Amino acid sequence: MTGSPAVHDVVIVGGGVAALTAAWELAGAGRDVVVLEAGDAVGGMLRRGTVAGVAVDLGAESFATRTTGVADLVADARLAVQLVEPRPGGAHVAFRRRMGRVGRAPLPRRALIGMPADAAAADVVRVLGRAGARRAARERDLPVDPAVFEGVEPSLAELATARFGAAVTARLVEPLCASVYSQRADAVTLSALHPALWGRFQELGSLTAAVDALATHARAGSAVRGVEGGLWRLAAELEMAALRAGAVIRTGATVREIRTTSAGADVVLDGETLVAREVVVATGPASASRLLGVAAPVAAPVRLVVAEIASAAFDRHPVGSGVIAAPDVPSAAKALTHVDAKWEWAAAALPAGAHAIRLSARDAAAGGLETPAEIAAAVRTLTGVGVNPADVREIAPVSWSDAVVTPEVKVAAAAAAATRGIRLLGAVASGTGLASVIPHARAVAAELLSHPTPSEGVRHVR
Ligand SMILES: Cc1cc2nc3c(=O)[nH]c(=O)nc-3n(C[C@H](O)[C@H](O)[C@H](O)COP(=O)(O)OP(=O)(O)OC[C@H]3O[C@@H](n4cnc5c(N)ncnc54)[C@H](O)[C@@H]3O)c2cc1C
Repeated sequence: MTGSPAVHDVVIVGGGVAALTAAWELAGAGRDVVVLEAGDAVGGMLRRGTVAGVAVDLGAESFATRTTGVADLVADARLAVQLVEPRPGGAHVAFRRRMGRVGRAPLPRRALIGMPADAAAADVVRVLGRAGARRAARERDLPVDPAVFEGVEPSLAELATARFGAAVTARLVEPLCASVYSQRADAVTLSALHPALWGRFQELGSLTAAVDALATHARAGSAVRGVEGGLWRLAAELEMAALRAGAVIRTGATVREIRTTSAGADVVLDGETLVAREVVVATGPASASRLLGVAAPVAAPVRLVVAEIASAAFDRHPVGSGVIAAPDVPSAAKALTHVDAKWEWAAAALPAGAHAIRLSARDAAAGGLETPAEIAAAVRTLTGVGVNPADVREIAPVSWSDAVVTPEVKVAAAAAAATRGIRLLGAVASGTGLASVIPHARAVAAELLSHPTPSEGVRHVR
């Protein structure tokens, strides 16, 4: 005899950190929650790899402290992870000098997306040179073209060049935009990338003044924290917390289609359909677009490699926690993280003489960064350290095919989800990064909890 299928309170499609956060929150409040993850493990872009016998992150490796979202979740869900500060070295930028040589300098201490709060500061002059810094210093007194605020916003690259000069764009804004946001500065706007900075610019009429008002005194890139042992542990602990709260988590469960009905939705997997009162899509942007029936351009993948490098020269942390490269630096990598220079726990875990170096490909489709020779070449160019192919001992490569959110997808997915009564989580809804994704997932869960379920009377609220 076959009865009617069970109706779940909430089915969450995707098993990344956004999904796990919402699942913990909803299950803890007594909702019947099922998480459906296509892969063979949850965590999404929080993933563990191994080099030199040490667990390292193959996806996100730190979180921004611009919100307290991650720390609040760790405390509220009692996750058994220890949040840690990176070592204070800060990162460097590599840029092309006039004669074609590659120069390197620490990133300016007070800047946002590479735009300096004080162009005369010594660390800014070191990157831009005297002429570039003098030009950048004029920004404070330049009048603002009213068209900029009246619907004809230029790209970030055009805006930065018009305000600060070409050197700021080439040596600071473009490399930061590419490495931190995985976006091209000529393809994004400041209002989309950093709404708070855009708001201050409108208010103050100067980007220098706006950055000055918002930038902390910390070195760029240091307003982040990590997790002892790797950020992948956050997802592992969150999975345990969601399971303890009563969520059902299924892996190898690819959702092919969501059919909304008057009572909720049918969630279609291969050979099976789940019925839910509420459906939450918490996948990457491309997958969300497919499930929501949105035709929008999809961004390029993100490819990186973590390698073990045996070189005593790295014992001295020659480029601090790492390097980001200006677009004209001839390298297959756009950024390098010296993992054990950045994280004390990694230094303590690695064997003597071994270093963990993480390289992000400039162009995921272009090849390179595969062989020891290619990796050694990129490390040499970005750090100036004479690394040989034989020094590259172990390589852990990874490619993220659904990581980058384009503004078009964000707008189209939000509209389609709203029309169909589907909740949307993750970077496609909240913006990239755990500092945005986690608080947003909790807010959506709270909103869902504000609607009673048919059997609410017998449920216990946490
Ligand atoms: C290389 C890299 C470095 C990063 N570094 C940082 C960093 O240092 N700090 C930071 O804050 N952020 C960083 N990010 C961004 C951050 O990782 C993401 O914003 C965040 O992890 C997104 O989580 P999510 O749960 O929304 O999505 P995801 O982690 O993408 O999870 C989505 C899940 O949905 C599953 N899925 C997709 N389609 C389906 C389907 N049809 N059915 C079932 N399941 C499906 C996928 O398999 C995946 O597991 C980085 C990202 C990358 C790629």
